[in-house]
Amino acid sequence: MKIGFIGLGNMGAPMAANLAKAGHAVTGFDLAAPCPEGVTMADSAAAAAKGQDVVITMLPNGAILQKVADEILPAMDKGAVHLDCSTVDVDSARAVAEQAAGMGIGAVDAPVSGGVGGATAGTLTFMAGGSEEAFAKVKPLFDIMGQKAVHCGAAGAGQAAKICNNMILGATMIVTCEAFALADKLGLDREKMFDVVSTSSGYSWSMNAYCPAPGVGPKSPADNDYKPGFAADLMLKDLRLAQQAAEAVDADTPMGTRAAELYAAFVEHEDGAGRDFSAMLPRLTKRGRA
Ligand code: NAD
Repeated sequence: MKIGFIGLGNMGAPMAANLAKAGHAVTGFDLAAPCPEGVTMADSAAAAAKGQDVVITMLPNGAILQKVADEILPAMDKGAVHLDCSTVDVDSARAVAEQAAGMGIGAVDAPVSGGVGGATAGTLTFMAGGSEEAFAKVKPLFDIMGQKAVHCGAAGAGQAAKICNNMILGATMIVTCEAFALADKLGLDREKMFDVVSTSSGYSWSMNAYCPAPGVGPKSPADNDYKPGFAADLMLKDLRLAQQAAEAVDADTPMGTRAAELYAAFVEHEDGAGRDFSAMLPRLTKRGRA
């Protein structure tokens, strides 16, 4: 396929390189990032989008996505598909899909799970929203960039699934860290705590696969001085998107709301910026109840 790829940062660059390696003709554009291997660079987003079968965007947020959509959609052919893999708010995803539909262009919102490691290895999980037809057209690209793609429903459904998942992840990571901090003060050995919880009803991805305690469980960012991994800043972004969506539809999310407050305090008023989101553990062990 002929593919345009806009946004060649930490995630976009390895995803574009994997598509090129698989034999697709990839034309890229980014305001700042260097050219990934196998990709040809264009001088503008519109130039990268013109005449392509599929145009992929991998951008920081919904406002930038909407701005880039204004540039690329008019340059795209009718029948082409815009595939947005960024994590953005549900409303921006739906607005861009509507704008594309008005121009006869297909649209799929497909945020990812798996981080830079998954993007590089081609093992991302995609959660997609959009029509059956548009999903079918981009499915072969999901198979190259990832290991699983779930078609979640109409436009915006991919973003909805992503923020619900990450709201669970944020709250679960915090309570896992709380449990380790409490266990420390009760004199319980961390290794024993892991052995019990990872095989009991408190188990979770945060405990079993991404344990926040250094030297316990499988290797994780905790073993690398909490270098990300998945940065606390990005977790805060996703928790805020979940809160924005919850407000829009009047959903009660008390744990999600508290998780967003705790990550906001950690990232914006303490030392959490640039650290892995599991660094909530050293934050909590330093504190008492007050
Ligand atoms: P990044 O900041 O490394 O990359 C974004 C790129 O977009 C940058 O290179 C930037 O120069 C480019 N850009 C910004 N505005 C542009 C414009 N107007 N035109 C062209 N290029 C523009 O971010 P990332 O880590 O690659 O994340 C991208 C998206 O993926 C985000 O929405 C993020 O939430 C999501 N995500 C990231 C991870 C992760 O672990 N990094 C995991 C899952 C999802």
